Amino acid sequence: MTGEPKTFMCVFCKYRSQERNFGCPRCGRRYGYGEVRTVKAIQLAQAVVFTVIGGFLILLGLSILVSELRLPYPMAPWWAFTLLFGFGALFVAGGLSSFFGNSWLLGLLLLLFARNQSYSSVERPK
Ligand SMILES: [Zn+2]
Repeated sequence: MTGEPKTFMCVFCKYRSQERNFGCPRCGRRYGYGEVRTVKAIQLAQAVVFTVIGGFLILLGLSILVSELRLPYPMAPWWAFTLLFGFGALFVAGGLSSFFGNSWLLGLLLLLFARNQSYSSVERPK
């Protein structure tokens, strides 16, 4: 037995507390508040995933671009490249900054994903 109290932290605002809670007590985000070990693991996992996705998108865009340069006609419209490189860069940037503990991309995605859910319904300690 270690006897050490568990520490919980928020993946978004870095709030730390010994208190177990559903959702972050400080910023009110429903997800991302958990044991430090778990949060760090999640952070690392999503950093790797985002970087891989971003890298894949950029590589895909590059390979289409390279084959298009060899062809006399355009293979893909210009916005396809904008999308591929844009999202690729976004994911790589988000993934890389997650390695340094900055989870803005995860926060952004969760915000879009959970738009219809009210953050205010998170139970706050009385
Ligand atoms: Zn928070």
